[in-house]
Amino acid sequence: MTARLFIDGQWVAPVSGETFEVIDPGNGKPFAEVARAGAADVDLAVRAARRAFDEGPWPQRSFAERGGVLRKMAALINQRIDELAELEVRDNGKPLPEARWDIEDVAGCFEYYADMAEGFASEQSQPVTVGDDSFTSRVRKEPLGVVGAIVPWNFPMLMAAWKVAPALAAGCTVVLKPSEVTPMTALVYGEIAEAAGLPAGAMNILTGFGPEVGAPLTEHPLVDKVAFTGSVPTGSKIMQAAAQDVKTISLELGGKSPFIVFADSDLEAAVEWIMFGIFWNQGEVCSATSRVLVEREMYEPLLERLSAECAKLKIGYGMDEDVLLGAIVNETQHRKILAAIESGKESGARLVCGGKVPEHLSEGYYLEATIFADVPTDSSIWKEEIFGPVVCINPFDSEEEALREANDSEFGLGAAVMSKDLERCDRVAEGLRAGIVWINCSQPTFIEVPWGGYKRSGIGRELGRWGFEAYLETKQITSYHGGPWG
Ligand code: NAD
Repeated sequence: MTARLFIDGQWVAPVSGETFEVIDPGNGKPFAEVARAGAADVDLAVRAARRAFDEGPWPQRSFAERGGVLRKMAALINQRIDELAELEVRDNGKPLPEARWDIEDVAGCFEYYADMAEGFASEQSQPVTVGDDSFTSRVRKEPLGVVGAIVPWNFPMLMAAWKVAPALAAGCTVVLKPSEVTPMTALVYGEIAEAAGLPAGAMNILTGFGPEVGAPLTEHPLVDKVAFTGSVPTGSKIMQAAAQDVKTISLELGGKSPFIVFADSDLEAAVEWIMFGIFWNQGEVCSATSRVLVEREMYEPLLERLSAECAKLKIGYGMDEDVLLGAIVNETQHRKILAAIESGKESGARLVCGGKVPEHLSEGYYLEATIFADVPTDSSIWKEEIFGPVVCINPFDSEEEALREANDSEFGLGAAVMSKDLERCDRVAEGLRAGIVWINCSQPTFIEVPWGGYKRSGIGRELGRWGFEAYLETKQITSYHGGPWG
């Protein structure tokens, strides 16, 4: 199955017959081989999705019927949590308990959008009063069309769920392209779609590389929307390509999220949330709070405590017990993070702890939890996304300074603030230019609330009602009943 593509309800070999290896970053060894799709496969998949949309039956089914299929998909995912979590560990390198959260969230996402679709039926065709009695209007929501869903490697199955579940619930048809680095769990969506009775063509899956699959998918004239999560440079290319046919796009891109800690905070709580905010998922998290601003009074004590905690973090293979920091996703990313650490040292920042490959791990791509303090604010480690277990920490002296520094970024995805003074937290939260703000915590993500960034962190919102409406068109139907007009 794995060296096949899922197109029009069939498992097929790619037109070129080519495959590529998937590497387990925990040991650096290949563990699977998958199909290497190309532009010809993209065309077949998009045409299948187009037929399934134009001729049905998926978009014509009621919201409630579609909700029922999504509920079956959720149940099938729930039955396979252990197997899928292990697959995610081998593909991505993350610790097993974190992979389990991901898969539980995937099932939860399908359940949530099943509920939303079922509940939505009653809201269809809302009457709207217009300013002339001779007319009545109603507003209807309809599926947007064929969706190209392009996802990254940090939460492979979950980032796909955030797109596939609401798109299918809305009645769209989908061509899913996972990252070439972590293609394994995306393929399982094909098995689940088959078992749940999703009609042929409603969901298609193409494994392969960005320029060979992602680019032709974005450029294909029969695609109506591209839903993308990934880096800013790729997002920018997608925006340019989508402009050719004026396609709808959503972009969930990078971040360099600040975390402001006031001195009245509980020291242990600050340590706990800073550690989680940057070292969860090896720091390969778009919303990772990678720039920490600490009120001067608490600065040195906090650095000392954080450094002690980092020394205790167990680093190792994601399947091993008690591991908290797994492998970096691949050699390229490992090299990029090491280069960022070198540039940090050259910038004059103080390396508080970490910065090296752990000596006891000779295979795979591991890194120590790394803290830089006194970081020049014009340095690349302070400004650019590293996407690894590296945090930059600086002191501040006033609320205004902290807010100004936090907002001084081209990104605006996440942000966090910690203080016992809740009024101050609310004030700072409102002043932060970011799509997601956490108060007295960092990272907890809930499906009910919108996810997305300001500035270069993206366009549009996923999750919640916002993530569902992103796959619906809005139509007004206006009727004239005779009588005077104008
Ligand atoms: P990436 O941009 O390199 O790749 C993302 C996807 O795009 C992959 O599937 C890739 O094959 C594909 N792609 C590459 N070139 C393409 C092209 N020319 N046209 C179309 N598709 C193309 O990103 P990545 O390295 O996989 O992921 C890391 C990035 O993702 C980070 O910047 C991170 O911040 C971001 N991210 C954002 C969120 C969010 O919700 N905002 C979530 C996770 C990751």
